[in-house]
Formats: sequence, structure tokens, C-alpha cells
Amino acid sequence: MNKPLDLKELMVDRAALAKRLRQETSGEVMTDSASRGRYATDASIYQAMPVAVFVPKTAEDIATAIQIAAELGIPVLPRGGGTSQCGQTTGAALVIDNSKYFRNILDLNLDKAYVEVEPGMVLDHLNGSLKQHGLWYPVDVSTAGQATIGGMAGNNSCGSRSIAYGNMVHNVLGINAWLANGQIAEFGNYANSSGVAKQLGDFVKGLATTLQPEIETHFPKVLRRVAGYNLDIFHPQSELPYTQDGSVNLSHLLVGSEGTLAYFKSLKLKLAPLPKYKVLGIVNFASFYKAMDSAQHIVKLGPTAVELVDRTMIDLARSNPSFKKTIETALIDHTAQTPEAILLVEFSGEAHAPLLEKLKALEELMGDLGLPGSVVPMPDASLQKNLWEVRKAGLNIMMSLKGDGKPVSFIEDCAVPLESLADYTQALTDVFSKYGSRGTWYAHASVGTLHVRPILDMRRDGAQKMRAVAEEASALVRKYKGAYSGEHGDGLCRGEWISWQFGPKITEALAEIKTTFDPKGLFNPGKIINPPKMDDASNFRFPPSYKVIPLQPALDWSAWNVQNNPVTEETSAPGTGGDPAMGLAKAVEMCNNNGHCRKFDAEVMCPSYRVTRDEKHLTRGRANTLRLALSNQLDMKDESSPLGSDAIKEVMELCVSCKACRRECPTGVDMAKMKIEFLSAYKKRVGHSLRDVAVAYLPKYAGTISSIPLLPALLNLRNHIAPIAKLQEWIMGISAQRSLPIWKSKTFWSNPKAITPYQYSADELSKQKGVVLLADTFNAYFEDENLIAAIKVLTAAGYQIHIPHKSQSKAANTEKNACSKEFCCGRTYLAAGMVDKAKETLGELVNHLAPYADKNIPIIGLEPSCLFTLKDEALVMGFGERAVTISQHAQLLEEFLANEVKAGKLNLNLKAASKPVLFHGHCHQKSFAAVTPAMELLKLIPNAEPKLIESSCCGMAGSFGYEAEHIEVSKQMAEASLLPSIRKSPDSWVVADGTSCRHQIADGTQREAVHIAKILAAHL
Ligand SMILES: Cc1cc2nc3c(=O)[nH]c(=O)nc-3n(C[C@H](O)[C@H](O)[C@H](O)COP(=O)(O)OP(=O)(O)OC[C@H]3O[C@@H](n4cnc5c(N)ncnc54)[C@H](O)[C@@H]3O)c2cc1C
Ligand code: SF4
Ligand code: SF4
Repeated sequence: MNKPLDLKELMVDRAALAKRLRQETSGEVMTDSASRGRYATDASIYQAMPVAVFVPKTAEDIATAIQIAAELGIPVLPRGGGTSQCGQTTGAALVIDNSKYFRNILDLNLDKAYVEVEPGMVLDHLNGSLKQHGLWYPVDVSTAGQATIGGMAGNNSCGSRSIAYGNMVHNVLGINAWLANGQIAEFGNYANSSGVAKQLGDFVKGLATTLQPEIETHFPKVLRRVAGYNLDIFHPQSELPYTQDGSVNLSHLLVGSEGTLAYFKSLKLKLAPLPKYKVLGIVNFASFYKAMDSAQHIVKLGPTAVELVDRTMIDLARSNPSFKKTIETALIDHTAQTPEAILLVEFSGEAHAPLLEKLKALEELMGDLGLPGSVVPMPDASLQKNLWEVRKAGLNIMMSLKGDGKPVSFIEDCAVPLESLADYTQALTDVFSKYGSRGTWYAHASVGTLHVRPILDMRRDGAQKMRAVAEEASALVRKYKGAYSGEHGDGLCRGEWISWQFGPKITEALAEIKTTFDPKGLFNPGKIINPPKMDDASNFRFPPSYKVIPLQPALDWSAWNVQNNPVTEETSAPGTGGDPAMGLAKAVEMCNNNGHCRKFDAEVMCPSYRVTRDEKHLTRGRANTLRLALSNQLDMKDESSPLGSDAIKEVMELCVSCKACRRECPTGVDMAKMKIEFLSAYKKRVGHSLRDVAVAYLPKYAGTISSIPLLPALLNLRNHIAPIAKLQEWIMGISAQRSLPIWKSKTFWSNPKAITPYQYSADELSKQKGVVLLADTFNAYFEDENLIAAIKVLTAAGYQIHIPHKSQSKAANTEKNACSKEFCCGRTYLAAGMVDKAKETLGELVNHLAPYADKNIPIIGLEPSCLFTLKDEALVMGFGERAVTISQHAQLLEEFLANEVKAGKLNLNLKAASKPVLFHGHCHQKSFAAVTPAMELLKLIPNAEPKLIESSCCGMAGSFGYEAEHIEVSKQMAEASLLPSIRKSPDSWVVADGTSCRHQIADGTQREAVHIAKILAAHL
């Protein structure tokens, strides 16, 4: 047996490793502390700094890297999405990231229903391409949008429908892998195997034969057992046989090996027909115990899934605006008390009618079990899809708890036989309360694997409580003959429980397997074999020694600066959490590394990752870098400004402040606000560039430029004379490839008297059908036709309009504001990191709007980035309650009009459209769920047939797309889906509310996109 590597004492020659990797491979090599720090964590509570990070481009790169690491005695850790929950992807090793370049299908055989893929292929991407063939890979993990097949095989992952399809081990047909000595071996059917794979197989067979009685005694008989190595391939113990014909497949030994035995090069997978029909029956229970007790009876009806959602989770979903409506579709009576639990029972198959029969059978069964009328039948596919999304978001809903206490994953996938499920959950609930905590239960009732995480504070007494709860939970698992590790693998968290589960002889045999495969013990050491104690604090991400650097942020983060009660989950008052960074550090620490920001196919987050696939250009990478900087864990040249350091600049460089993470990150990590903090600190350190000043002060000088005769025309020459554009690029860094917005001499503000009819006090306006319409800098100076259109629409609908302007307000008389009479939201200052200036500017607008908001007058904006500043940043700038009231009344034109139509207060009576409409939502509009009203409104135009362009960020993002160093990335973002969709519909109106979105569309497609105000006005 090999001597355990002492990872803490491991002396490695990082420089030699990096030098050789750079010389001998084409991959990306990273050794700086920030890059290593970004790969030091997964979705567990652990952290370990890698020796170096390697992103290989070719298979030869991987083979060479394994070889070099072996020669230098450096461990190797293969990594996919890094979403493991037990720390299996953390280690002091050369971490090799497969997810960027190894994403291909190598072979697809439709007749034999198998596919061979590279290890970095993401499950959703695979299933996306299989759908057209009526097939899918059915191991449907909740992290399907980011989990890679290599990682899923590494962990022996299991999906919600494992009762019907099994775990990874039941669905892998073969694995080609590099062994520790760099040799490639083909693991498949044992009977047909040859070479080194056969030798290894023979060895394992020898062990299994000797240990057959031990295997039969110690291997749990449940489907969900993923601990250790699958020594039972030769003497199957799983409820569901690993192979249909009873043969032995050597690749199954590698499934669940967590990167400790071999490095997967390609994986051959068994595909299943995509079920044509699915129905859902949702059983409502007034008693949690009864729900658990019923599972054993429900599975006899042959469902494809039985998933639990408990009362806490239902209530959390009901309190979240994104989930409320959907979760209530699952309740018998949403006006009554929330049920203690619901079970989502899914049946699927090739025909609909038999499934409806199954639903009936479920209703009858529940009647027999004493619960007549407890089932909500849901045959509708789209309702089912929405409900599954809420179920999948379950863990993330829970993880959004603010404060240092977090729901910790360490016993959350113990699996017990169904007949004991009710007693087991009851007993474990009692254990939680004994230790001053509480668990929220959800997930796979069908297979006795319920997720539950007690809230623990790992910086304080979390480790002791974790140990105590784990000891008691393990005793219960033993009592009920279950498996301690039933889904998420072993990693650092459950490694020590392998010998507890299997006994000394099997543990010894597992170690022998490891030594035979990997004699030097270099493949992901410390996992499965020779694991550390689960509560060894030196492996924690937040050990008791974790300290945050004191700093004063520019914005108010006190809402995050709280602590929570682990039983009631109530949080303390804002500002009382004891964060030396005044809440900023706690906001950053909300990132639990679940990797949801690595998704590609839906919504917006995270545009910079979507085009680069680099961890550092991902919300998670940014949050991790910030956390490490704020807790002094990075080697920084300028330690006086961790927030404004070059390490943070590197990760913030491509963040387009789209605010998608604010909405889509399950724990609400708000990187756009964090970027403001960075910019503020960074610009304090390095000073503002000419470009910063030009962008920031645009609202101040726009009026002057437009009012000087011929100056607008002169400045517009820049768009026509290439050398001027080149010169500007050289001096200011504004890309010569871009056209700039066109200056006008006649603007919305040219004739101040023209707005006299639109000046009302709050008192006057409140007595009429009144609204406030914001004339933002972009629409007022560059596209005044949008403002005019909005006025036309609102006037036609009978509203009196007030347009804020300082000529009517006291602010205009102060000397400071003499150069500009227009209000501004301060957005351009925020983009340049001038937070004080933004506060001053926005403060004036807030003062002006407050009396209108107090009178409940709607405040309407046209430019999403300006309007949503009132609903977002204004709330963290110290403006107090006034800002909150304003935010409640601030809305886009379409939000206002759509609501008025819904309330029956408005009938727009629009003319028919001559061509169909394509709509592109601005990122901030999407972040504030304001795309639906736009679509609702466009549907009111007869024949418009509005279609939403499924796009992420347009890539322009304020000034980002104009910046010379970002032009290429900006174009790539636009080309990801927005511009191709527009090109595919040459005869449509293109509607986009954002001025930068319209600019990007014009630059990229030579098509004019219009503001929604304009299209509405055109159809009046
Ligand atoms: C919110 C949330 C929900 C989850 N839901 C589920 C769920 O429903 N079911 C479930 O089973 N899990 C779930 N998980 C855990 C995790 O997402 C899965 O285990 C997932 O399959 C891991 O994939 P990955 O690409 O992130 O792998 P990683 O975490 O990157 O790697 C996992 C293991 O595989 C090894 N590995 C990766 N690539 C290779 C390779 N090429 N060769 C050899 N070994 C390799 C790694 O070394 C590591 O040990 C969840 C996690 C989170 C955060
Ligand atoms: S930023 Fe949000 S989505 Fe991304 S890993 Fe962190 S918590 Fe998950
Ligand atoms: S604001 Fe947008 S670009 Fe920046 S991290 Fe969030 S999702 Fe990514």
C-alpha cells in the first residue's frame, strides 16, 4: 500500500512545473495566487490552493501534463464544472480543467443508442444535441447546465429520475483513460478486455473473490450507494444491476473514483429514448411523517420520479416573486395553510392515456392511504417544467440565507430503504434540534435519498456540531441499513466514513486498488484513500482563523451585514453582522460556488463567461477572487487597496455590469454593484483616464456641445474620417471600429420653453391622471424622437406629464449646477467609478422625485439603465426611505402601460402592424423582470406577432463596447445569438429599449432598432 502523501508538507517546484508545461504543451498555465485561488474551491465547505492550474487544449497536452507532474512528483486533479459538494475537486495539486476545450461528441450511434463524448461535455449540451434524435442521457442531475460528463462519472452522480434509469454507474458503457504512468487504457466489458485494463480487472477480481462474504455483508443494498470504489462489480449488491445482461464492465470501477484512479479521456454512454409524454401528480400532505411513509407505496405505481419539497422550502418559494406563482400551482388550496410537504410524482411514457390512468391510480392510492383529495393532477407539460425548475432551485433557495450560518452539506444524501424513511427523517430531525439547528428536507423520496442541511457556522462552532450530528446520523443509517454517501460522493467530507461503511478488510482492498492503479499516489490524493478528518479546519474555506480586512465600501452593504438564527432562520438587523468590510465581504461570501453561473443556454448570466469560458471571467471566479482579496489570501503588490488591486481588475475587466447575476445567481451575488466598488477603489489608486472623464461627464457637457453652432456636425466627422477615429482611439482608447452616437444641434432640450406644458408640481399632478417622465441624457440629446414618441403615446392615452427639469427646481439656482439644467441618474459616473459624483447627481434627482413618489405618481423612464438605477443603486447610496418610495414607483414605459391595460384603465387601440416584431430585452430590463410587460404590450399591436430574441447581453453594455480593448469581446457577445437572430428575420421591426443595444444592432447588422415608444407611437 502506498504511503499517504502529506499534502501540507508537499514541497513542489511550481516554477519547474510551469516552465515545462509552457514549453511542452499548448495549454494555458496559471500559477499566480488569484488564478490558483479560483480553483481552490468547489461547492463544498473546503478550500485547498492548487499547485498550479492547467487548461489543456489537446489530448496530448493532458498526457504530457500527467507525465510532467509524475516526473516532478506533483499530484494531478482533473476538474469539470467544479460543482462537487464534498470537496473532491479541491486539492494541492496540478488542477486540470477539462471544461473549456474538451466538449465534443466523438461518436454517436443512433442504432445502438450510445454516444462517446469528451469529459468536459456539459450534460445539458449533450442532451440539447440528442433531442432531435428522440434520445437523451437520463442521469438528470440538478446541475445539468454546468455538470460535465467527466465530473458526473467521477462522482457517480445520480438524477431525480434514478428510480427509473439508475445512477451514472448504470449508464456508462466504457471509459478510455490515462493511467498515472501516462499509459492509455480502455475500460469496458471485462470479458472482452485486454492489455493493462484486463490486468487491472483481473487484480480487482481477485480481491473481490477473496472478499465476497465481506462485500455481501458490508455493501448497502440500496440503489443510492456511491461511496468508495465499486468493488461490487464482480458481486453486484445494488438494487439495480450495473449491467442489463449481468456482465462485468470495468469502466464501472472508475465511475465514482473521483479522479483517484485514472484520468478520463473519453466516455461511452448508454442513451435512453426521450419519453414522449409526462404527467405529474402532486400529493399534498398535512404531515411530513405521512409523506415519508407514503413514498414506499407510491413507488409501486412505477413512477419515474418521486421528489419531496417540504414546508420550509414551499414557504421560501412562496416568498420569492420568481417562484410564488409556480409553487402555488402545486397546492390543493393556496389560500389555506401551507402543507407540511408535497411529493412530486412523475409518470412518463410513449402514450398519454396510460399516464392519465396512472394519475388516477395515484389518487386512488392516496384515498386508500387515508388522504382522499390530496393530489393535484398536472398533465400540462409547461406547468410541470416550471415546477421542476422550482424543485431544482430548492437547494439554492435555501442557500440564499444571509449571515455566517449556512446550510452545510455533509449528511445530505444518506440513503435509507423506503420502509424506514419516515422513522429515519423523524429521528434525524430530533438530532438537529438537539444541536440547536434545523433541517429543510427535499429531493429524491423515490430512492430514500433526502437532501437535508443543518445550518452551521463553520467560523465558530460549526465543526464540532458537524461531527456530533454526523456521528448520530451514521448510527441511524446503520440502524436502517442504508448508505452514508448516496449521491454526492466522498471527497474530503465523507472519506473518513468509507471504513465505517465497509469495514477494515474492504477498506484495505480499496487502498490496494488505488496502489495498483496509481503507485505513487498522485491522482487526487486524500480522496477515498487516506482521507483527512471531515472536520479538519485547515481544509475549510471559512476556518475559525478566517479574517476580513477592514474597509469602508463606497455603497451601503449593511443589508448583508447580518447574522442568522439557525432554527428560525431570522436575520439580525442590518449592519449588526460584525463584518469589518461593512457587509461587502458577507455579500461576496454569498457565493457558495455552486457554478450556476456557468450555464449557457438560458437567460443572461454570465455573458463574459459565455464568450471566454474562463473561470476568471465568470461570476463565481470574480466572487472568489474578491473573497480571497478581502480576506488577505492573495499575493498582492499593492496591499493597501485589496479591492482596487490588479488581481481584481483582471477579473472585473470583462464584467459588463449586466446585473444578470443579481437576478439569476441563486444566492443573489450582485457583481454589478461589486464592480462599482472595485472601480471606485481602483480609480482612487490609479486615477481617472481621459476616457473615464469623457464618459462620466457626458450628461454635463452634452448640452453645451449641442448648443454651439456647427460643433455637433464637426464632432460627427469622426464617424466619417477614419484617421480622426484612429487618433481618438490612440488618445482615448475609444475603438475606431465603432461609430459614435450622433450629436445633434436640435435636441429635446434645445427649446426649454417647449417643456413648459410638462411642468407640474407633485400636488398639481396628483389631482390629475398624472405621470412623471424622465428625460435621460441619451434619449434627450441623441434620440429625442423616443421622448417625443413617449409623450405622444402618454398624451393620447390621456395622461398629464411632468418632465423633471431644474429650471423649475431650486437646484437650478445653485452655482454648482449652473452648467447643467437637466437631472441625471448618475449612471455614467458609476461606470467610471466616481461614486461620490454619482451620489451628488442622483441625490438631486431623488430630491426632485420624492414628492411625486410620496403622492403615488408613477415615475416612467425610457432608458433601462437609467431607470433601473432608481430601483437598484439608489437604494444603497444613503438616500434613506425617499429612495425606497421612489423605487416603488419607478418603471419603464411598457411596465406602466401594460399595468394600466391590465387594470382596465387604458385601451390603446393600435393600428395593425405591416411586419412582425422582434424584441430584444436590455439586460437590466431582464434583471428586473420587465421584459414580459414589453411583450404584452407589443401583442396589443394587431399582426405584430412579437417574438422575444433569446439573447444574453448585447455586448455593448454602456461604454464597454466602445472601448478599444473590449471591442472583440463585445462583438463576440453580440454574435452569440442576438445578431444572428436579427439577420434571420430581415423583414421584421427590431425593438430594443437600450440605447447601447440599438447601437450594437446598428453596427453589427446595419439594421435600425427602435425604442418601444416609437413603435407604439407609429401604430396609434
Ligand atoms: C446546487 C447543486 C445541486 C446538485 N445536484 C446534484 C444532483 O442532483 N445529483 C448529483 O449526483 N449531484 C449533484 N450535485 C453535485 C455535482 O453537481 C455533481 O456531482 C456533478 O456531476 C459534478 O460535475 P462537475 O463537472 O462539476 O464535476 P467536478 O466537481 O469538477 O468533478 C467531480 C469529480 O470528478 C473528477 N473528474 C472530473 N473530470 C474527470 C476526468 N476527466 N477524469 C477523471 N476524473 C474526473 C474530479 O476530480 C472530481 O473528483 C449538485 C451540486 C450542487 C452545487
Ligand atoms: S456567483 Fe452565484 S451562481 Fe455563480 S457560483 Fe457563486 S453562488 Fe453560484
Ligand atoms: S454583472 Fe453580468 S457580466 Fe458581470 S458577473 Fe454578473 S452576469 Fe457576469
